Amino acid sequence: MKMKSRIDWLQILLQCQKNVNTQIRSYLKTENQLQPDLGRGAGGDQMKPVDLAAEKAIVDVLLQHIVSFTLISEESGVKEFGDDPTKFYVTVDPIDGTTNFVHGIPFYASSIALSTRPSLSAVFAGLVSDLFHDKTYFALEGKGAHCDGERIRPSSSKSLDKAVVGLDLNSFKVEEYSFELTHLIQKINHIRHFGANALELCYVADGTTDAFIDIREKLRTTDIAAAFLIVKEAGGTITTPSGSPLEAKLDPKQTISFIASGNTQVHQNILSLVKA
Ligand SMILES: [Mg+2]
Repeated sequence: MKMKSRIDWLQILLQCQKNVNTQIRSYLKTENQLQPDLGRGAGGDQMKPVDLAAEKAIVDVLLQHIVSFTLISEESGVKEFGDDPTKFYVTVDPIDGTTNFVHGIPFYASSIALSTRPSLSAVFAGLVSDLFHDKTYFALEGKGAHCDGERIRPSSSKSLDKAVVGLDLNSFKVEEYSFELTHLIQKINHIRHFGANALELCYVADGTTDAFIDIREKLRTTDIAAAFLIVKEAGGTITTPSGSPLEAKLDPKQTISFIASGNTQVHQNILSLVKA
């Protein structure tokens, strides 16, 4: 049994988040200006200087507290630290929504998940920080999900008519899967996509939206590792598009499709329409 419970993960992750906030501030000045691409990160997206600054901010704080861990990052890939790197796995998307950040759209986050194995089901602590609004979502396995210390719960609304549903349709393969969503889209009056999937999952967790759907098989597990636990601990439902439990390797190259909903009734509603 690893000694994960003796460590105050919330305090460590909050320090990480504070450091990210401090370190990315100077990059906000270059908002709306062309920022150099630094080549592709481990997850395949173009890296911006702000992505690496945020990653460094997280690693610097972690090294002050836990000497040994394996970093699984969208930017740097998999990196081992210390003598016993398999003790903890830290899965990060330093900035989720970098495009929003560089365009000055106020919706981007930092995501950090801790696990004892490199798999989604082993995540025991997760933090997603809404960096623009300075709101922090945090979940600890078995202890519920919180936003700025307040317990959060998802929507209990069962009907789709009034539901606000997030839908990520960004893909060059949109023709291949959009027909699977036709029946669902016909039933929803309020479709949204804000551009930072970790944060959009937190919106499901706290009932801001009713569901979030991404069936592109394009989202990386590094993006949702923390938010996955936050949705579950809040009391929401998150499964594969066919309704199976969600499980995947935590790796910047591993992609995943999922449907997250506020409650099981609305979830079944959505599943039946996606399969239709
Ligand atoms: Mg990112």
